Amino acid sequence: MLKALLDIVFPPVCLLCGERSLKKGFCEVCLVLIEKERITTPICSTCGTPFPSPKGVDHECGRCLKERPHFKAARSAFVFDGRLLDAIHRFKYGGDTSLAGPLARSALNALDQSSGCIIVPVPLHSAKLRARGFNQSLLIARELARLTAFPLSYNNLKRARDTGQQVGLKSDERNKNVAGAFILQDPAAFKGKKALLIDDVITTGATINECARLLKLAGAEVFALTVARTVKV
Ligand SMILES: [Zn+2]
Ligand SMILES: [Zn+2]
Repeated sequence: MLKALLDIVFPPVCLLCGERSLKKGFCEVCLVLIEKERITTPICSTCGTPFPSPKGVDHECGRCLKERPHFKAARSAFVFDGRLLDAIHRFKYGGDTSLAGPLARSALNALDQSSGCIIVPVPLHSAKLRARGFNQSLLIARELARLTAFPLSYNNLKRARDTGQQVGLKSDERNKNVAGAFILQDPAAFKGKKALLIDDVITTGATINECARLLKLAGAEVFALTVARTVKV
């Protein structure tokens, strides 16, 4: 009753376009635009990259066949484009942390094979954390932990050094750049466990793969979930 009254006096507005919205979070128009970016089958069964042809079943991509990543499977809910890209930019660079909840909720159904995982956000270097004020991956991970009731581990995996901006670096340069950039403070905590790495966007997968390497070394079976992924056209 009170909520209904409040909704009349203060109608909810879309977190993205600022228009009136029937629901909390994104309005109907933004939701439709965001859903346009949703990744659907066929995808690579390992790294989650969508295949250009809409027909066929999931199978491994050439890259994973050539060099198997350290994670068992990675999934992303959306292609990093359109209104979804706007949402992530607004969240990450615009500091609108209220978007963490709706983004995590809309990414939830890309989760599979990962029940009972320990949720591990990709850490930010402290210098970046100070500059941004928050770790976008941790905010998404925290929402996902709340929604799934999976445990959250946020200070075991740490960034040992700042890898700087990865934007503009080629795939092999990124691999070199992230090598040894992370440490696990208590590897024993992951022995025999399943871990689910969380990030906002996966680009070449170099960062996620390096984090996965450490978790795997500690004895975990590693999965990854990101809200979005960049896709080469
Ligand atoms: Zn909207
Ligand atoms: Zn693949």
